[in-house]
Parts: sequence; structure tokens; C-alpha cells
Amino acid sequence: MNRLKEKIMQEGRVLGEGVLKVDAFLNHQIDPQLMWEIGQTFSRMYAKEGVTKVLTLESSGIAPAVMTALQLGVPTVFARKQKSLTLNQDLLTETVYSYTKQQKNEVTISRQFMAPGERVLIIDDFLANGEAATGLARLVERAEAVVAGFGIVIEKSFQEGASRLAAAGYRVDSLARIASLSDGQIVFAE
Ligand code: 5GP
Repeated sequence: MNRLKEKIMQEGRVLGEGVLKVDAFLNHQIDPQLMWEIGQTFSRMYAKEGVTKVLTLESSGIAPAVMTALQLGVPTVFARKQKSLTLNQDLLTETVYSYTKQQKNEVTISRQFMAPGERVLIIDDFLANGEAATGLARLVERAEAVVAGFGIVIEKSFQEGASRLAAAGYRVDSLARIASLSDGQIVFAE
């Protein structure tokens, strides 16, 4: 997606440890027009996959996931990182190591919103080592639903997440693939 790549080049900032900061349009301030176009792209890619639900992880996955779900005509569920008093029945929980926070999180969804047999498109803002993605896939599969694929906004191809997901047999569609963030420079994979 060219507009996404332009935004990354113009507004992305490379932090140490191979982390890309995109707070200007995705992780803090959100560019709704860009999110709409991201949703349009994913919804076209998965138009024939019989997707019944879009799943993401709070909070940065929600904007691209909602825009995708809107255009597929299905609901979005976001896995929660904090237990809530209102979220207390029939829960599915997985432990996921957070790359940016460097800590373990419990991520939870309610079985009420993930029925057996659903076809689930998992959307996330970043794919790095694949911890978040594989944790979400485990939640889907424990609910006896099916992962239709992964829609990733920014894949850091120099980390192992994409190859882990491919090796596990999942379809992965990344809109921007970053080959390197060395020396503060953003280099795309293509
Ligand atoms: P993974 O679980 O694949 O190792 O990391 C993916 C998760 O960590 C994403 O949900 C995202 O929130 C966060 N993440 C990983 N790398 C980056 C990065 O370079 N920049 C930002 N902003 N978030 C990242």
C-alpha cells in the first residue's frame, strides 16, 4: 500500500531495539482516512473467504480492524488485556509476551463472541516475533473457530513472526513489509 508506506517514511520514527514509532497515524493519533483505505484493502483480499468475524488486540489493532469489519459487513471483537468486572463469564484466556512492553499479558475474549465454526480474520498493527498473532490464533482455535488469515498493517520482516505464521500454515497479508530499521533508516522489503 503506497499511501501507508509514504506515511511511514514521512511520519515514522525509528527507536532503538528495532522499534518503529507510528504514533502520528496509528498508535496514538489515528488517521481515519488511512484506516479506511487499510480496511478496504483487507476487505478486498478476504472478500471470498467467508469471514464471519474480525479479531484484534486492544488497543492499536482496533482502528484497522473496525474499518475492515465494516467493509466486510461483520463484527469486530478485540481481545482485552485487562480483566474487567463486566467481562466475567465463559472466558478464553492466553498468555502473550508483549514485544514493546517486555512483559507478559493475559489476553481474554468471551466465548459469547467467538462461536464454534466462525471464520476469523485476525488484524494487528504490527507483526514482530509473532507472539500477539499466535496468541490470538490460539484463542480462536480454543473456541473451535477457524483462522481465515492474518491482516497485518506493518510487518517487520527482519523478525521471525511472518515465517512462524507461514510455517504453521496460516495465510499472512502484510500491507507494508520492513526489511530493516538499522541505523535509524526505514528500508522496505520490496
Ligand atoms: P509480536 O507479538 O509479533 O512480537 O509483536 C507485535 C505486537 O507488538 C503488536 O501488537 C504491536 O503492538 C507491538 N509491536 C511490535 N513491534 C512494534 C514496533 O516496532 N512498533 C510498535 N509501535 N509496536 C510494535
